Amino acid sequence: MKLSVKELSFGYGNANALEDISLDVDEGTIVSLVGPNGAGKSTLIKCIDRILKPRKGTVFLDGKQAAMLTSRDLSKMMGYVPQSTHEVFTYTVFDVVLMGRRPHIGWRVSANDVKIVAKTLRFLGIERFASRYFDELSGGEKQKIAMARAIVQEPEILLLDEPTSSLDIRHQLEVMNIVKRLVLQRRISVVMAMHDLNLASRFSDKVVMLKDRGIYTMGNPASVLTPANIENVYGVRSEVRNGHMDRPYVMPIEPI
Ligand code: ADP
Repeated sequence: MKLSVKELSFGYGNANALEDISLDVDEGTIVSLVGPNGAGKSTLIKCIDRILKPRKGTVFLDGKQAAMLTSRDLSKMMGYVPQSTHEVFTYTVFDVVLMGRRPHIGWRVSANDVKIVAKTLRFLGIERFASRYFDELSGGEKQKIAMARAIVQEPEILLLDEPTSSLDIRHQLEVMNIVKRLVLQRRISVVMAMHDLNLASRFSDKVVMLKDRGIYTMGNPASVLTPANIENVYGVRSEVRNGHMDRPYVMPIEPI
């Protein structure tokens, strides 16, 4: 499914947090939103998921206005994984993930719902946690469970807000590999807010660099992650080398 954002603006109170954002996310691609703290990455993701209502502009899903969909239909199409949750769930992992089936569940949980949850836990390699209590898990484990909860929704678009921010390097790669696998196997489209420019570089088809409420530039990782753009947007001098799989590798040197 193709996602298009057209001329979207949003404000908290009087001040605009996003101004005139337009971008396309093609089916089966990963688009990263990068930019300094406060640039509007989380806000944009929430506007796409209709958690926040834009002041102006439209979100299209395969050319149809997302605003016209019922919230149940929208949640069948879009899964959202917020920044590392501090939610308290005194439920088992299995039940927390099963909650993700809510948009599909009729009067009762079906055998198919249970099967999808079990399959997803296996897909993520976390079936051993199924009967543990969510609250007793580490940040990295919780992040994978939150991902599982979005995956069982069987969305065509996955919105991830800083999916790797609290994870060690192994979990970062595991989570990103899961995302990549979903994109390859199920042709889902992903929009993710990312602080780590090198993970964005390595895993994205397109990088959207936000600055001061708007899009500063966007394109493939090599065209966006340049020392000049990083200096203009983050105020940091950096070196960019050729990294793994020929993707740019950014080394921040110092603030200017
Ligand atoms: P990012 O995700 O890029 O760090 P955010 O989308 O969180 O940026 O924030 C964009 C701007 O909106 C910032 O100036 C931030 O202070 C402001 N903002 C975010 N959430 C709220 C809120 N709930 N109420 C008021 N202002 C907010």
